[in-house]
Amino acid sequence: MRSLLMRSPVVVAACWIGAYIFITLLPLVILLVYPAPVGRGFWIDFSVALGFIALAMMALQFSLTARINRIEASYGIDIILQFHRYISLVAFALVLIHPLILFVVQPETLQLLNFFTAPWRAKMAVLGTLALIALVVTTIWRQKLKIPYEPWRTLHGVLAVLTVGLGLGHAIAVGNYLGLFWKAVLWTAIALAALWLLVYVRLVKPFFMLKKPYLVEEVRPEHGNVWTLALRPRGHEGIRFDPGQFAWITLEISPFRMREHPFSMSSNGDNPERIEFSIKALGDFTKTIKDVKPGTKAFLDGPYGVFTTERYEDSAGFVLIAGGIGITPMMSILVTQAERKAERKDERPYLLIYASKTWEDVTFSEELDKLKEKLDLTIVHVLREPPENWSGEKGYVDKELLERYIPKRRATRQYFICAAPKMMEQVELALHQLDVPPTNIHMEHFNLV
Ligand SMILES: Cc1cc2nc3c(=O)[nH]c(=O)nc-3n(C[C@H](O)[C@H](O)[C@H](O)COP(=O)(O)OP(=O)(O)OC[C@H]3O[C@@H](n4cnc5c(N)ncnc54)[C@H](O)[C@@H]3O)c2cc1C
Repeated sequence: MRSLLMRSPVVVAACWIGAYIFITLLPLVILLVYPAPVGRGFWIDFSVALGFIALAMMALQFSLTARINRIEASYGIDIILQFHRYISLVAFALVLIHPLILFVVQPETLQLLNFFTAPWRAKMAVLGTLALIALVVTTIWRQKLKIPYEPWRTLHGVLAVLTVGLGLGHAIAVGNYLGLFWKAVLWTAIALAALWLLVYVRLVKPFFMLKKPYLVEEVRPEHGNVWTLALRPRGHEGIRFDPGQFAWITLEISPFRMREHPFSMSSNGDNPERIEFSIKALGDFTKTIKDVKPGTKAFLDGPYGVFTTERYEDSAGFVLIAGGIGITPMMSILVTQAERKAERKDERPYLLIYASKTWEDVTFSEELDKLKEKLDLTIVHVLREPPENWSGEKGYVDKELLERYIPKRRATRQYFICAAPKMMEQVELALHQLDVPPTNIHMEHFNLV
């Protein structure tokens, strides 16, 4: 009973939240248990408490982005990154409020802002806050500031380490609340854990990836300026994955270089011998896929993600809504189910609503048609610019269109959406308006930042 409970995704997810809150508040609990220095007054203690909470939150940010499988498997990368963003803003606000309270309550502390005369404990606070401001600005306005993704990622890591390192240095140097040896030990342990996560992501993970290389077996053109990259594991068994999941790919270069890109697998999840990714040529990296030669080395970090029908054994069927390259996870779901169907006697119906610009852009049009022979699959193509003789759906996937196709008993199905951000937003809203329960709607965003 106990182990069953522990395996329930809801219980596991709740445990992670509990652990997060516990670690964030632990330094405060310790401050309460151990008497704080006397005579400093409520507002100063309150301001310090905010500073401690912010520091713990920022240190924990490393665990959110370290791609720890167990945490990822409970929520999915979308939700984790969303949480990471919101928490950064909360921590940022606390970091700013912390000195503001001090400046109001003890105006003489304003002198600490004079960088040249201030002691090191104050210098570290100022530098840490500036690093945090730079981190927040370059993240929220990355695209407006025209910072390319790769340099941004490096800058983000450096600023994060600086912020936490300087914050911790400030807290230890102030000393009032960390004077006791074991409180300093606690904070050093939190900082070391954050550092270990960094080492894990930068060195340990790439090391294990290096030991399990793949070779490019084929690069195949598809409709819609998409290229399918087929990989074969070399000297190991490859990975099994739940259809709909994704992995981070490094091509040609060493995984230590950290120039990896996330892509959903588009092939059968039960065939680790040949793993396929279908990639739309859109930017610097994706435009090079067509020139990749068979035999090129590749490395995979994955599988990740919770965008999979596998989690919904009880669902009476599935509605898959794709736009453009958002078809890749759906393709994997359908191909895998088609192969498994006979073996599992799974007769559940699939409805695929697939939006493309023109008929020529429809990636996998022939393959999807063939899958109808193997699966109870209905495909509704929606074209924005249909050919003259087109009798199918045209325009956008809106409420009226969805109403024509999704089952009347909405809650009997699980709904999966993967498309451009605007289409995802509109489809999600339309599904809400059509009384689809929010817990039955699952989304995969291809633009993480
Ligand atoms: C979970 C997931 C699954 C995806 N599956 C597919 C798929 O099956 N097929 C497909 O064609 N695309 C997929 N993508 C999108 C794909 O990862 C990006 O299009 C690609 O990384 C862009 O790289 P680029 O250098 O060609 O483009 P650029 O023009 O350099 O970048 C365009 C945008 O892509 C994002 N990006 C760029 N580099 C990275 C990176 N290293 N890591 C993360 N994001 C980056 C940034 O937001 C950037 O602004 C997926 C994305 C995610 C998050």
